[in-house]
Amino acid sequence: MTDPGVLIVGASQAGAQLAASLREFGATCPITLVGAEEHLPYQRPPLSKSYLSGKAEAESLLLRSADYYADHGIGVVTGEWIDRVDLGASGGRAVSATGRTFDFDQLALTVGGTPRRLDVPGADLGNVFYLRDLSDAAALRASLDDARRVVVVGGGFVGLEVAAVANSLGKEVVVVEALERLMARAVAPVVSQFYLDAHEQRGVRVLLDTGVVGFLGSGTVSSVELSDGTSLPADVVLVGIGLVAHTALAEQLGLEVSSGGIVIDAHARTSLPGVVAAGDCTALRAENGLLRIESVANAIAQGRAAAATLVGVHDPLSVVPWFWSDQGDIKLQIAGLSSGYDDVVLRGEPESQQFSALYYRGDRLIAIDSINAPRDYMAVRKILEGGASVPRTVAADLDVQLKTLIPARR
Ligand SMILES: Cc1cc2nc3c(=O)[nH]c(=O)nc-3n(C[C@H](O)[C@H](O)[C@H](O)COP(=O)(O)OP(=O)(O)OC[C@H]3O[C@@H](n4cnc5c(N)ncnc54)[C@H](O)[C@@H]3O)c2cc1C
Repeated sequence: MTDPGVLIVGASQAGAQLAASLREFGATCPITLVGAEEHLPYQRPPLSKSYLSGKAEAESLLLRSADYYADHGIGVVTGEWIDRVDLGASGGRAVSATGRTFDFDQLALTVGGTPRRLDVPGADLGNVFYLRDLSDAAALRASLDDARRVVVVGGGFVGLEVAAVANSLGKEVVVVEALERLMARAVAPVVSQFYLDAHEQRGVRVLLDTGVVGFLGSGTVSSVELSDGTSLPADVVLVGIGLVAHTALAEQLGLEVSSGGIVIDAHARTSLPGVVAAGDCTALRAENGLLRIESVANAIAQGRAAAATLVGVHDPLSVVPWFWSDQGDIKLQIAGLSSGYDDVVLRGEPESQQFSALYYRGDRLIAIDSINAPRDYMAVRKILEGGASVPRTVAADLDVQLKTLIPARR
């Protein structure tokens, strides 16, 4: 049993940030970070990029060293899945699947989520992979060695990153996407089209508007059965069709859960006093509804906001969301949230493989997707952070340097 203090359930990007921020804000109480995985908190983005391609190894993924946690008095407990939490008049107790108990004064849920499963016949065959954690990535990486034909189900960020890596390793890659365009929920049609062309030019086959109805094979997968009645031979399949947030503990505690996430406000407060939540498991109450954001930047920002709340410091979320996706040699950087846009202005030519899409709602710039255009991205991120905009009339004008529109710091 640990001393009461702050218990953080979920030891990854958001949980590790929350613990570190608590100390930065001056918290002196015991802090326990408990997670189901066997590793210290590590970065997930390389799992579909440098780690998968063999350019990075597991040790290089750690967010912080063991010494960091020891030096800052943060107890990290790995390999324990919390499956029950009870709240008392003040504080409460969490119990893990192995029966270990953790008492706490304050509770933080940074429990992330699990890949959405494809519920079709044959989905449990060998070599049908999902990708969320290091063990998933290690298994996928090992299986790619002997594979010739790789099918990726889902044309979102993770699926396309894996497709690019497998392609670079010389595999025959087919991406199967149920919707009519790639990354449809995140980017404008013009950006989807660019990525379709770019992946196809590099040798990846992409099937849009196509569903998967099953997998065939004996023991391991040998083909993917498609909704149009055809099938694709496959040695390895990666299914990347989204995330289901872990909300069971929140539901057990009676916290408000909606839009598939634990509802929080800009201070990372849940509907119960003394309980905060951060990262991929949350649904943030914002001006235009509940926002589910799955990104490193969001996990860091919400982790920090949650720590501020627990120590009583006023530090609400104020950052402009940002995200990146490396698909082979194409780097996508996104700042802002494009949902609800009514116009897109292109800066640069997609054919040059270096351009940006600026999203407007009315006259206001709300987001940018930059493709191999880091200067545009950085400038717009700062412009948005400064509460400013880029006049639509100059957005496409490459003679106007966007950095000149960054407002001076107040
Ligand atoms: C392959 C891949 C590539 C990605 N690439 C990018 C990228 O390029 N850019 C970007 O911004 N983001 C990327 N992301 C997303 C980013 O990694 C996540 O947004 C981030 O990890 C969220 O952190 P989190 O701490 O909220 O949740 P998670 O990282 O999901 O961590 C939650 C942790 O809680 C543990 N847990 C859950 N329930 C319990 C319980 N009951 N008891 C104990 N432990 C529990 C889980 O085991 C897990 O370790 C990628 C994600 C993946 C999987």
